[in-house]
Amino acid sequence: MTDAAFEAVIGLEIHVQLATATKLFCGDLTHFGAAPNTQVCPVCLGLPGALPVPNARAVELAVRAALALECTVHETSIFARKNYFYPDLPKGYQITQFEQPLATAGGVDVVDPADGAAVRVCIRRIHMEEDAGKSVHDRFPGLTAVDLNRTGVPLVEIVTEPDLHSPAAARAFLTRLKQTLLYVEVSDCDMEKGSLRVDANISVRRAGEAQLGVKTELKNMNSFANVERALEYEIARQTALVRSGGTVVQESLLWDAARGAARSMRSKEESHDYRYFPEPDLPPLAVTGTEIEAVRAALPELPAAREARFQAEYGLPRYDAEVLSADRATGHYFEAVAGAAGDAKAASNWVMMDVLGWLNLHGSRVQDVPVSAEALAALIRMVLDGTLSNTAGRRVFQIMAETGRPAAELVQEHGLVQVRDDTQLDDWVRAVIDECPDEVQRFRTGELKVMGYLMGQVMKKSAGRADPKRASELLRARLGA
Ligand code: ADP
Ligand code: MG
Repeated sequence: MTDAAFEAVIGLEIHVQLATATKLFCGDLTHFGAAPNTQVCPVCLGLPGALPVPNARAVELAVRAALALECTVHETSIFARKNYFYPDLPKGYQITQFEQPLATAGGVDVVDPADGAAVRVCIRRIHMEEDAGKSVHDRFPGLTAVDLNRTGVPLVEIVTEPDLHSPAAARAFLTRLKQTLLYVEVSDCDMEKGSLRVDANISVRRAGEAQLGVKTELKNMNSFANVERALEYEIARQTALVRSGGTVVQESLLWDAARGAARSMRSKEESHDYRYFPEPDLPPLAVTGTEIEAVRAALPELPAAREARFQAEYGLPRYDAEVLSADRATGHYFEAVAGAAGDAKAASNWVMMDVLGWLNLHGSRVQDVPVSAEALAALIRMVLDGTLSNTAGRRVFQIMAETGRPAAELVQEHGLVQVRDDTQLDDWVRAVIDECPDEVQRFRTGELKVMGYLMGQVMKKSAGRADPKRASELLRARLGA
């Protein structure tokens, strides 16, 4: 796919459903999965005479998203009508924002995984709009059904500048964007429910050229992995086309994940096709400077700041800081463990390997792990002070996660206290030496790596209880090493 003579240019448009209980311009509920057409009223159905009233909570969440993405929020923005016909749009228009959006000129810093380069992806604008309904094609054979429950659900549309140059960087950007939006709790960002939808604009140009090429727009990708694959596909297609003397036609393409290919959906509309005009049923949207600053003051620590703090305050490697900041709850949990255990790097290792490992295996979230931060810290302290070996500690953690019982109790019950008594350790060492004459011979003739095997046997014999440091000293002494 990569062709050094060409450069890819990518700009993204992301629709994000705001986590409000009710719709943008009426009091209907926004529950996902409700029976079709049960969450509708004259306003969102666009019946004559019904008037929209803006949802203050939706505006607040939109402002919060905009500030988290470093945008300037405007005290005045204008709702506009975007006119088009579609079966799932009963009003015949969508209320959105056009010439004067809520927020402009933000940005997100990411690292391009391709070359490790830092990229600032500028956010051109963030505007508020209402969602359309849903056309359901797979419910009744040969028919299309319309469910209007989604009509009028509040969205923000986030539009980037064409600042991305690789599918992997686009994915890194989307990951950071979603993480940030989850941190500030404006949306559940669940792509499977359609709470976060990505349209990807893509063009290619000869390397070094300043002018942008003709773009296509990819739609219908239901995961970030699919966005990346679709972009790779489309870059390869456009590059081959231009290389062979053809020209790219501006159009919208539907990604077909099963086929791993995109097909043409429609030629792309221009904005004048929509006959935008200021929404006559709504006054300009006013948000005061004081309100904006109040939202800013209530923002939580954001992912990049938290990653930096975890490195500075706890001396963690960048990798640890990133993993532990992946979501807010994991970061809180880690900090509680680190504080109670008194050793941040140990806390990091246990949270990353044992807790996150357990969560992955069980498909659950850190909020649900049955081991409290204090309980894990107590276990870590037993390992740090030598009461428990690392190996035994890991076993104890598994039992704690299954039973919710405290470490001290389990250690007693399972006889797992680490053995540091030389007489007992030496018994195990001698038994292993007796049982493994071949390995001992190989070690003595210079095959030093056999030591690892023999130590493994000692640990096994002790059921994981031997103090590995002391046992290894005794083993070396017996082998004359
Ligand atoms: P349109 O009017 O076709 O919707 P916009 O200028 O509004 O185009 O841009 C929409 C999105 O497409 C933005 O994210 C922008 O960064 C991106 N974009 C615009 N031109 C290009 C291009 N030539 N190649 C890639 N992306 C582009
Ligand atoms: Mg546009």
